[in-house]
Amino acid sequence: MPTYGRLPITFERGEGAWLFDQNNNRYLDALSGIAVCSLGHAHPAVHQAICKQSEKLLHTSNLYGIAVQEQLADRLTEKSGMDNVFFCNSGAEANEAAIKLARKYGHQQGIENPAIIVMEKSFHGRTLATLSATGNAKIQQGFAPLVEGFVRVPYNDINAIKQAVEQHNNVVAVLVEPIQGEGGVNIPAADYLNQIRSLCDKHNLLMMLDEIQTGMGRTGKFLAFQHNDILPDVCTLAKALGNGVPIGACLARGKAATVLTAGNHGSTFGGNPLACSAALAVLATLDAENLIEQAAQKGDAISAALKERLLGNAHVVDIRHKGMMIGIELDRPCTELVQAALQNNLLINVTAEKTIRLLPPFIINDQQMTQLVETLSTLIIKVKDSR
Ligand SMILES: *Cc1c(COP(=O)(O)O)cnc(C)c1O
Repeated sequence: MPTYGRLPITFERGEGAWLFDQNNNRYLDALSGIAVCSLGHAHPAVHQAICKQSEKLLHTSNLYGIAVQEQLADRLTEKSGMDNVFFCNSGAEANEAAIKLARKYGHQQGIENPAIIVMEKSFHGRTLATLSATGNAKIQQGFAPLVEGFVRVPYNDINAIKQAVEQHNNVVAVLVEPIQGEGGVNIPAADYLNQIRSLCDKHNLLMMLDEIQTGMGRTGKFLAFQHNDILPDVCTLAKALGNGVPIGACLARGKAATVLTAGNHGSTFGGNPLACSAALAVLATLDAENLIEQAAQKGDAISAALKERLLGNAHVVDIRHKGMMIGIELDRPCTELVQAALQNNLLINVTAEKTIRLLPPFIINDQQMTQLVETLSTLIIKVKDSR
């Protein structure tokens, strides 16, 4: 089905931050398949892990014990401070699990019609419940009736959440991205998550963080909430968890960890040996190659270099980043820059119409970083001058 407006290019193989098309032309990947291939393409650790696992077992069933799934759950809970994990195959599914968890948590407290606070400009996925949670009319257009039970407030506005909690007596959870990705690389106030944590504690609400894009080291910490020294009650992961092998996870802690029980939720493929072996290799590699620290440092370096080249430019409204999540907001729609960059062998993305989004792989080297900054800033300066 024509569900994507595709660019006129097909890649055949990759190597680190490079992608090669069918004619062996080389492109610099500053998008990582939208925050998926953080270790770069064809990383040997992931390659070896899935080859080795496929010699033994691809799939059994969650009706039986799965040793690699248990190992992965141990590693994830250890690194996150969470208690339990439900495994699935995508981000939307991870958020579906979180939404179901919040609803059941509400029902346990006698709330028949539980509501979840969600944000304007948020993105949580394309299934019916997650698109209903998403704060983007374009994504919801044509799919009414939407799933009920969401109360929407502006992002980065703690008072709006407070008011919503006071106005509705059925709020059971707050679902929020630590940084809005699809919404335009929107970075909230430094203490926003801390304030949500306090509010959720006060009103006995579940704090649910969608870390599908921000997680797995992208912002320079393993999880973005670790910049704030807090723990959420629920946290969802996907994208970079398998470096390209589909896997999602819904992590829960404390009172949230045992809300979903046998018969409440499930997935045929979720947490299967193949996907879990990939994710275990990703976690091991992040540690072994010190990649999260590198994400923090390289993100700072790319952002500083872009600022040096572009901050004088009249059309550049803002350059913001946390780790390797970088947004360059222009004063006008700039989706045509994606095509222009492609013609210059550079893969970027534009989100929320005006914000160029960079999500480079953590293994990008100095030379590639220079190429990224030079190519992109030249394009921004040139395109704007030619108008
Ligand atoms: C990508 C994304 C999702 C959806 O993940 P899928 O794997 O495409 O279903 C949900 N939330 C956020 C924040 C995302 O960036």
